[in-house]
Formats: sequence, C-alpha cells, structure tokens
Amino acid sequence: MAVRGERIVAVGTDEDLRPLAGPRTEVVELAGRLALPGFIDAHTHFGNAAAWTFRVGLYEERDADAVLEKIATSARRVPKGLWLTGGDLDAAAAWAADEKGAPRPAPMPIDRRRLDAVAPDHPILLRRVDGAYVANSLALARARLDRRAPDPRGGEIRRDADGMPTGILLGRAGERMAELMPPANLELMVAGAESALEELRRAGITGIHDVARLDEVSRRQLFHTDVERSATDLALFRELQRRGRLTMRVYAFLTLAVWREVVACGVRPRTDEGRIRFGGLKAFIDGFLMDAPYANEPDYAGSFTFRFVDEETMAADIAGADAAGFDPVVHTIGDKAHRLLLDWYEAAIRANPPRDRRFRVIHAWYPSAREIERIGKLGLIVDVTPQHLVNDMRTVERRLGPERAKTAHAWRSLREAGARLDLVSDWPGSFNEQRATPLAPLQNIALAVERAWHPEEALTVEEAIAAYTINPAYASYEEDQRGSIALGKLADLVVLSRDILPLGARDIASTEVDMTILGGRVIHRRGS
Ligand SMILES: [Zn+2]
Repeated sequence: MAVRGERIVAVGTDEDLRPLAGPRTEVVELAGRLALPGFIDAHTHFGNAAAWTFRVGLYEERDADAVLEKIATSARRVPKGLWLTGGDLDAAAAWAADEKGAPRPAPMPIDRRRLDAVAPDHPILLRRVDGAYVANSLALARARLDRRAPDPRGGEIRRDADGMPTGILLGRAGERMAELMPPANLELMVAGAESALEELRRAGITGIHDVARLDEVSRRQLFHTDVERSATDLALFRELQRRGRLTMRVYAFLTLAVWREVVACGVRPRTDEGRIRFGGLKAFIDGFLMDAPYANEPDYAGSFTFRFVDEETMAADIAGADAAGFDPVVHTIGDKAHRLLLDWYEAAIRANPPRDRRFRVIHAWYPSAREIERIGKLGLIVDVTPQHLVNDMRTVERRLGPERAKTAHAWRSLREAGARLDLVSDWPGSFNEQRATPLAPLQNIALAVERAWHPEEALTVEEAIAAYTINPAYASYEEDQRGSIALGKLADLVVLSRDILPLGARDIASTEVDMTILGGRVIHRRGS
C-alpha cells in the first residue's frame, strides 16, 4: 500500500507500488508482519484514564516494595510538581483478615523517607485502609507541615525523635491534608491525557468511541452530573486538539437525557470538529434487569439504574433524539432491559421517517433468544466486552440458571442473527482506579477467539479484527473513510510484529504492536 498525505493512494503488489516511492518516502517492509487498519475501541472512558494517571491503585499490594515500585512508575509518567495520590494501602491484607475474623496486620512501613526515595519531585499523599494518610516531604512542605506545625484537634502529625513529621498523618491531620489537594483543572487533565494518549498509541489504537459530556449543559442540570459519571469533558478533547496533541479520532457520545440541550449547543449528528465526531448519545437502563428473579436470589430481579427516570421518558428521549438524527447508545444488561430497549427502538423507528440508523446496545449481557433475534432483525450494533466475560464467567451459570445462561454472552448467535459486533475494552473502567481495565486490543481479540465459557460462541480471528476496525467505523458512519485498507481511505494503520490470522489465542495475545500510524503519520514505533 502507498500513503500520501493522510490517505491511502494505492494498494497493490511491490512492483506496482515501488515506482511511487520518491527520495523522501519512508518504506516500511513488513517482512512477514501484518498491517491492519488502526484499531478502533468503541467504548472507552478517556477522562477517567486521564484523571487516574494521578491516582495509583494500591489496594491489592501486600508489601511496601511493590507499592514503592508502582509509585515510581507513576512518577515517571507524570510531570514533576503535580500531585500523586493513591490508596488504599493495606486494604487487601485487612479485608483478608476481616474475613477470617483475625486482627488486621500492622500497616506497611511506608513513610516520608521511603516515598522521597522513589519520587522526590512530586507531592504524594496516599491513604491507608485505617483512614490515616502518608505524605512525602514535598507534600508536607506544600501543606507547611514542619516541626513547628501543631497537631489539629482530632488528629496527630507523627514525628521522629527530632520532632520532624514522619509523613504519617492520623485522623484530622490526614483529612485536612486531603482537603488541601488542588481540584482537577484543565491543565492537569491535559497532563493526564498525554499519558493516556501514549497508552492508546502503544496499543495500536487510532480511534475511540468515548463516553463524553458537555460541561456547559451539565452545570445547568445538576442531576445529570450523576447520569454522566465517568464521562470525559468534551473540553478536554477540544483542548488537546487545539494544541495539536490529539493523536486519535474520537467519536464522542454525549448524554441522551439532555439531547435537547446538546442540539441547542449546536452539536449536529454525523459532523466532525477536526478529529472529534458526533452522532451517538449515551444512556443507561439498568442494573442487571431481568424478567424473572435470579436463580440464586429468588427475591431479586435486578433494577433500573439510579440514572433512569422512567420508561416513558426514556422512550421519548430515544424517539426525540432519533428524529434529530442521533443514534442511541445504551448500556443494557438483563433480558428485561433488552426487551424494553428494543420496544423503544422499534417505536422510534415506526414513529420517525426512515433514515440510515446505527442504533447500539452496549454490553448486551443476558438477552433471551427472542431478544437476540430482534437485535439481529433491527441490524443493531452490539458492543461486547471480552474482559467482562472473564469476570462474569465465574458466577453467571449460578446466577441465571442453566436455561438463561445459554444466551448470556452469545456473541456468535448475535452475529448470526444479523447484529454487527464491536469488541470493546471499557478502558479504564467507570467505577474507580482500583480495578482498571486495560485497553489490550490483541488480548481482547484472543479472548474472543478462544472463549473459556461456551466456546461455540467464539468469533474467528477475522471476525474479531472486523469488530475492532470496520464495524466500529460503520457504527460512526465512517465505513467509507476508515476501518479497512482501501484506496482513498484515511491511512490509520497498525503494524503487528507477526501475522495473527493463523495464530491461536495465546500467540495473538503476546503479539506486539510495532507501529501505529494516524492519517499517514507514524505516532508510535516500538522501542523508541
Ligand atoms: Zn463504560
């Protein structure tokens, strides 16, 4: 393939293309490696990834050296002078002791000096599971906690033999320090975003579909700050783009519940703002909403989420947004959740004039066979999360019972019914930094082709690649622009260290990303 500017200008044999190379052309010999369209991860929470750059998840660590190693790693990624926080130190050990009814072990011996040794140039404040905090010297200096600082009422600044604070802050002393932390601001988020973008480039990802929000709308509608938990402020993407730092394309889902305000702000579906594109609107239905109770909890059949107002409102929002040309993108788990969502989708399609629609179901856990058929008939896009299945697999059979479990994560059945699948990461997660979900496109492809649970629902390698490239491009109405290697398309590409098509899951997962290319520009080279 030949690339000029940001597009693919020829596809053919070496003989066909070699005459196109000039003196300044960079020639990449694949030599047995594989070039694919750049991966598109159709479900991310970029703002969380940016924010969590500064928050180190430490609750699983059982020894001080491991904690200090993690802090050192984070400090290398974060510009000097910015705060690093994290927690909860000693949590895993304390919970294990609680379970056995044993006394909790003593806290790890981490103090100011040990933190200074690994990260002297960042102010650091870590929380312990017992509620105390540990700060390094720079953090203590910022808070003006020196030998003269008095203990606050209800707290204690631990001191060494010379009266110097050790960094361990008990009770109110630690809480006051935590309150002193500067709030996140755009500059800080941009610094965190730089590190998140680096992670995306290394993973071979050239596009994401991200859960986002318009802060100017949200500020007027307080309620929606909860609805929009884990949404990236659109301002962050815009700022990165303004600075020429946005090394990916973003399909930004704004919030369905405020679709009228989104329209009033001038956002139009299927329009681009440079590398930022609009068209999908995100909503949630449930927590695990089933028609009949769970097999292991006879009084419980899940519930609507706290973000959900009522069925009538949701149906009206979907129909209204559809009429305005937007596509609903809805978190759906449970057979009842699917049934209701499909009712609303069908009602919107009946009520509004025909158009090219790209309606979507996110997660699609636990649909019934009937709902799978309906999803297929409607030609919906379904975003499935292989890493979630790894977790759910342990209990799904017990929770649903054998009958309902048969269609619980039915990827192949969905595909065969007529759905288009996206394989997505949900990176880095929407809850908190303690259990961050990796981007890992190659690991997700590996999980999709070799399912440990109901392997008959696995995808082929080709199908899994399509679910990371052309299918998400279709979902954002860009199948003519990217998602495959073809004449005239954007040169968003990834070069893998080997051809994964004939490989098994284990080898796919350990394949490396050698190069990532966005619009004809190399944005990542392995080892440099
Ligand atoms: Zn999510």
